[in-house]
Amino acid sequence: MSNVKFQSIIKEIDEKKVITKKSGYLDVKKYLTHTRKYFKKKERYHRYKFDDKDIIIENNEIRLKGFQAKHIVMCIGIDQKKINLFNKIDINEVSGNSILAELNYSIKNIINNKISIVNTSKNIFHIGSSYNNGSDNIGHSKILDDARKIIKKKLIFKKSFFGIRSSSKDRRPIVGKHFQLKNLYIINGLGSKGISQAPYCSDKLFNYIEKNKQIDKEININRFKT
Ligand SMILES: Cc1cc2nc3c(=O)[nH]c(=O)nc-3n(C[C@H](O)[C@H](O)[C@H](O)COP(=O)(O)OP(=O)(O)OC[C@H]3O[C@@H](n4cnc5c(N)ncnc54)[C@H](O)[C@@H]3O)c2cc1C
Repeated sequence: MSNVKFQSIIKEIDEKKVITKKSGYLDVKKYLTHTRKYFKKKERYHRYKFDDKDIIIENNEIRLKGFQAKHIVMCIGIDQKKINLFNKIDINEVSGNSILAELNYSIKNIINNKISIVNTSKNIFHIGSSYNNGSDNIGHSKILDDARKIIKKKLIFKKSFFGIRSSSKDRRPIVGKHFQLKNLYIINGLGSKGISQAPYCSDKLFNYIEKNKQIDKEININRFKT
């Protein structure tokens, strides 16, 4: 980190820590609420749970019953396993927990030391996450223990969250076009960094569909072609 390349982002550095000049986090709930509102206003948002029987395949094209679209992009996370498409792609579950906890003071910095500790409002901290191969909920006790070791102050547990990430065999995103159906695409396998990687992957897929630009080989679905 002492490398000159990182000088512009480092505020302070010693053997124990690095403090960067800037950092931030995305309030995903808020972001999704506002995005939904934006697209609803434009009449471009429909809430709809489809299953196998809604899928119509004709002339190498896919349609979803009741919807007219030039292109269909599937971004349905781990539920992709339940839908009879993209069967050649191995998608695995990686479960995880995060927690909300209370501390009697606030911290300006985001702490990142295996887990992240983010002071989201007043004395409330969002702390996470754990990783577990599979879909079991192994609970939040380890996160709380780890956070207490880092903070070394009284931390009061408030709430736990559980989720299942969808991960690829090589732990990289899966972006691209179905091997047979010419109007079907996918973004999946975003693993533990879906919030950070989704904008990059969406941009790559958009440019592939609309401008015929290649998708990086590291994230391209074609790496699973046999
Ligand atoms: C505990 C935990 C902490 C995390 N922390 C971070 C982090 O700090 N930073 C980060 O970048 N990432 C983080 N992630 C990872 C991130 O949440 C995921 O990578 C991301 O949510 C994947 O997005 P996705 O859209 O591919 O799938 P999902 O978020 O799973 O979304 C899929 C959506 O498709 C819908 N769907 C499924 N089936 C159907 C169907 N048949 N019809 C209609 N809709 C359907 C689902 O309801 C869901 O809304 C974390 C994950 C967990 C579990």
